[in-house]
Amino acid sequence: MQTKRRIKFSIFLKLVLLIIVFIIVANLLLGFFIRFSLIGPPIGQFNKKAPPHLHEFIVREIGYPPDTVKAMSFVHELNIGIRFETPEVQWSSNEDIPGIKELSGEGEFRNKDERHPFDYKGRPYFIEKIPQGFVILSPPMPRDSIDYQRAILAVIVIVSVLGLLLYFSLRWIFGPVKKLSEGVEKIGEGNFDDEIKIDRSDELGLLADSINKMKSNISGMIKAKESLLIDVSHELRSPLTRIKLANEFVDDLEIHNMIKTDVDEMEKMISGLLETYRMEKGEEKLNLDITDIVDLTKNVISKFNGAKIIFESEFKERKINIDRAKIEIVLRNLLDNAIKYSEGKQVEVKISGEKNNGDKTLLSIRDYGNGIAAGEIEKIFEPFYRIDKSRDKKISGYGLGLSLVKKILDLHKVVISIQSEPAQGTRFLLTFKS
Ligand code: ADP
Repeated sequence: MQTKRRIKFSIFLKLVLLIIVFIIVANLLLGFFIRFSLIGPPIGQFNKKAPPHLHEFIVREIGYPPDTVKAMSFVHELNIGIRFETPEVQWSSNEDIPGIKELSGEGEFRNKDERHPFDYKGRPYFIEKIPQGFVILSPPMPRDSIDYQRAILAVIVIVSVLGLLLYFSLRWIFGPVKKLSEGVEKIGEGNFDDEIKIDRSDELGLLADSINKMKSNISGMIKAKESLLIDVSHELRSPLTRIKLANEFVDDLEIHNMIKTDVDEMEKMISGLLETYRMEKGEEKLNLDITDIVDLTKNVISKFNGAKIIFESEFKERKINIDRAKIEIVLRNLLDNAIKYSEGKQVEVKISGEKNNGDKTLLSIRDYGNGIAAGEIEKIFEPFYRIDKSRDKKISGYGLGLSLVKKILDLHKVVISIQSEPAQGTRFLLTFKS
């Protein structure tokens, strides 16, 4: 049986992560866009990063006496401040541009003949000397910072809402995937009764319909195969009885015994098959009764005359609620296998209580025979499964014993576990609840 794949990273989780990444990236990109395209470079960048002749160019373009219309167009275009300071003209685009006196007062600005980038109260200015006096260029004015914050906030809200809308839309589109996977899992477990109901007319709806169709086809095929098997098994019973009867008239003892062995084997197989089927269909009900498992086990062991079986029990008597006849079949089959597949080596049967849970009863059947490879352990409970057909050929059997064992134990809700190593032997451990 294939090991079950577990979901490590669900697509819904991936979807959530994708949307979160989308929201963060979109916010960052839009934030940068607003910051640099709409609001302009940060304060101070203009005077430091502007091309060296830009200030000179601006001053030249405005001319003297200053063309204030042109000056204002630079002011708006570049978001800067301009102040003309000559004996004749005292003009300033903004009130807060410091005059040459204030700037000189800072002490740094001494050589009034040069063009000069100049830091005043933490803001960079540029002073351009013209023949008539000075032009002071101030850095870009901080635009209304509340507007800027609002714009960023609006972008975050819009992008987040879009992200959420995207998430819910994708969730709606892919929602049926979960239903589909649950439905397919049920089919894998052998439940062919429930339909996958997806009321959608897209590809997922179509997929659900195809799976439903496939399911009913498979279920029909299995039913046909089952009923063929059961019918044939039933029909074989009468000829077998007739052979048995006729065999009583065979005088040659050797031939008589040969026929008897073969007929007995066939009968065993047919009743095993029919019993497994009834158990599977739930036709067989458990006849639960408080039973002493120690006594029952001893009783079953006593029927294996000549086999080397060592029995050990922690309890003299251990009463549990089981169907005695069915658990007898389980013990018989497990012991039969242990003896068959260990070629006469000793078999150990032990009854004990679970250490941490006094209520539980453990029954172990251990042999020192062929053992079972790890990959085969799950498969041996399947009907008609025999590990190595050539290895087990000389050992009689049809691979039905353990499948019946499993069905009976499942009905009892008894857990069966196997520890085995090839060529070392096998331990079957049954854990009874009470
Ligand atoms: P069978 O009638 O072949 O014994 P079972 O259903 O009882 O059918 O067992 C299925 C297969 O599991 C066997 O054919 C055998 O290969 C393997 N098996 C069962 N019990 C043991 C065991 N105690 N040791 C080794 N192999 C075992």
